[in-house]
Amino acid sequence: MATIIDGRAYAKEINRETKQRVDRLKKRGIIPKMAVVLVGDDPASKIYTRTKQKKAKALGISCQLLRYPAAVSQAELTAEIERLNADQTVNAIMVQEPLPAHIDNMALVGRIAPEKDVDGFHPVNVGKLYNNFPGNYPISCTPRGIMMALDHYQVPIAGADVVIVGRSILVGRPLQSLFINRDATVTMCGRKTPHLLNRLRQADIVVVAAGKPNWITGDDLKQGSVVIDVGINRLADGKLVGDVDFVSASQVAGTITPVPGGVGPLTVAVMEAQTVDLTEWQHE
Ligand code: NAD
Repeated sequence: MATIIDGRAYAKEINRETKQRVDRLKKRGIIPKMAVVLVGDDPASKIYTRTKQKKAKALGISCQLLRYPAAVSQAELTAEIERLNADQTVNAIMVQEPLPAHIDNMALVGRIAPEKDVDGFHPVNVGKLYNNFPGNYPISCTPRGIMMALDHYQVPIAGADVVIVGRSILVGRPLQSLFINRDATVTMCGRKTPHLLNRLRQADIVVVAAGKPNWITGDDLKQGSVVIDVGINRLADGKLVGDVDFVSASQVAGTITPVPGGVGPLTVAVMEAQTVDLTEWQHE
């Protein structure tokens, strides 16, 4: 049976540390503040935003929610981002996805001041990560959380053969850079990758972020490999599952993340921690 990466327990540890850092900042008269721009009435986004606000409050982080109707214009949202950039009390800005089709999200993210870009999506921050720049800059929270979890569970990265399924801006691409910057050999897979499952069978570390429920089974994995399941899929019966069939995969893997309770809780904890990072860096 594989070692299970307990995302909830590790997220608690991260949160404990975040809370201590917030308390230290408060002694200096600084309260970290994030601003979340929420557009429209997507029910999942509303729940996710509420969770973020609740967690932030518990850690002593101020969280301002800026709600806009779905019909809001690009210009109005850009003006809001500019206002938040100029607001000295705001340390972190994020735009909640999905956005209505008429809004160009990339253009919007490009207007966020890079030093307040808590999601790590601004091209300046993406470029720094890609080129392994030294110094402090935000990194997409899910990939950062994955690397922290691998380190926490002492998974060797340098020299590892890594296969990542899914090439999104949110997960696959930043993760590729993080692994390369740590001297791993990375294969990136998408829908048109030939012999994808054969590639997985060679990998020391497999990361699946495709959004395809229970797709990867134990037969597709190398004995003792490390399996990171990023997928979050809700089945017709309401059950939440990952992209990996946990029951069969955990018989073959050496280390594995469950869904729920794996990568998900880490993403939120890293986002709160990264808000505090940004605050500290801005006051250095
Ligand atoms: P996305 O839809 O932007 O990208 C999916 C990627 O997977 C694409 O690059 C696509 O080419 C690839 N893909 C899809 N089906 C494939 C197939 N059959 N074979 C090969 N490649 C395939 O998705 P995303 O935003 O990166 O999210 C992926 C999954 O991860 C979703 O289930 C999402 O809910 C979940 N997610 C979870 C967290 C978390 O915190 N746990 C964070 C982000 C995303």
